[in-house]
Amino acid sequence: MSGLFSAAFLRQIGWDADVYERSTVELVGRGAGITTHPELLEALTASGAGTENLGIEVSRRIALDRQGRIKDERYLPQVLTSWDRLQRLLRNTIDEARYHLGWAFERVEQNGNGVRVHFNGGRVVDADLLVGGDGIRSAVRAQVAPELQPIYAGYYIWRGAPSEAELSEKVRKEIFPYFTFYLPPQQEVITYPIAGFNDDLTPGKRRFNFIWYRVADAARLREMNVDEYGHQHEFTVPPPLIRKDLIAEMHKDAREIMPEVMLDAVMAIKQPFVTPIYDFTAPQIVFGRVAMVGDAAANARPHMGFGVSKAGGDAQALAKALRGHDDIDTALKAYNAERQPIGNTIVMHSRKLGTHMGVNLRTEEDRRMHELLQDDGAMMDWIAVPNFLDAYR
Ligand SMILES: Cc1cc2nc3c(=O)[nH]c(=O)nc-3n(C[C@H](O)[C@H](O)[C@H](O)COP(=O)(O)OP(=O)(O)OC[C@H]3O[C@@H](n4cnc5c(N)ncnc54)[C@H](O)[C@@H]3O)c2cc1C
Repeated sequence: MSGLFSAAFLRQIGWDADVYERSTVELVGRGAGITTHPELLEALTASGAGTENLGIEVSRRIALDRQGRIKDERYLPQVLTSWDRLQRLLRNTIDEARYHLGWAFERVEQNGNGVRVHFNGGRVVDADLLVGGDGIRSAVRAQVAPELQPIYAGYYIWRGAPSEAELSEKVRKEIFPYFTFYLPPQQEVITYPIAGFNDDLTPGKRRFNFIWYRVADAARLREMNVDEYGHQHEFTVPPPLIRKDLIAEMHKDAREIMPEVMLDAVMAIKQPFVTPIYDFTAPQIVFGRVAMVGDAAANARPHMGFGVSKAGGDAQALAKALRGHDDIDTALKAYNAERQPIGNTIVMHSRKLGTHMGVNLRTEEDRRMHELLQDDGAMMDWIAVPNFLDAYR
């Protein structure tokens, strides 16, 4: 997302911009849901990607009790989209000849006036600027700031996106149309509707974004990262290789913990997958002629659902700075001064929301925040709400 946003905004100010993507095939997002924010809508419009058929507007948030009854609710209209829809909109902004699949960044050399970028297969590209938009495990960042490592938050998510047609009548009626919360101690279950395959928004053909936060210490996570064939993975196991015993255990826990309607939704997920939660901040996001954007620059826990909004904002600010200064290095300083603190703020804010999970509560403020967030209404008022950055301005 950040790579495509960067190319779109840089082209608007007259730069030649190419996107080099490691994947050899077009990317698909495993049905991941994305909450939108005004900043994202603004960036999509300004980049030329637009917001056509962006997603599903949900007007209510509801919180359920153990019996599946609504215990609290909020009126909060918000458009919920999917990774696939956003990727398609942004992908359409770029000329085919400028989008290069199967190019994996390997290393960058700098000479003060530009960069020489080395990709797999011995391919080399010279440029004025390298924009590092290669995600939380960024290979670009690993070279320019190897000391910056994502930190495990102490919890992970079970995720899935069953299709609407496969949901029970109860799920379709009682929770599908809403941004729904179920919040037992040290857990968060969050669901909302998203577009179906090929961005289909037709009722009956949509999907249901399901997220279940659970606590696991680093040792337990390591054990979960052993796949069906006994192979140890470093960060996460690809969905088809997740061990059957882990899925069976997850189903057993769901039977014990969830209201019937949520359990129905869990059982409709054909291929549940695990995402461990990490974050990190960076004291700087510009390193000579290398500018970091999106998750590669700073990565927040997903409680605000703001990652793509930040990616768009970073790319927009980078282009604005380059347009506003004749000298590239001065422009990059301005970009760093504007966006590094924002990345920091988003990470810190998400850590506050993460205190709900009750792990690693280090300070009195953490403990107070944890207490506050035990109230379902407070969670609905805070999680992924629009305009949260205003409080920091
Ligand atoms: C559980 C969860 C829920 C989320 N929910 C939301 C939400 O509701 N709203 C929201 O806005 N955000 C959400 N996010 C965050 C969002 O997905 C990310 O912030 C966003 O995808 C970041 O985009 P990016 O382009 O910076 O990085 P990425 O999406 O990670 O893209 C990086 C790209 O770089 C490529 N790449 C990697 N290494 C190399 C290399 N060496 N050479 C070339 N290419 C390479 C990768 O293949 C990939 O295409 C969520 C994240 C998680 C984990």
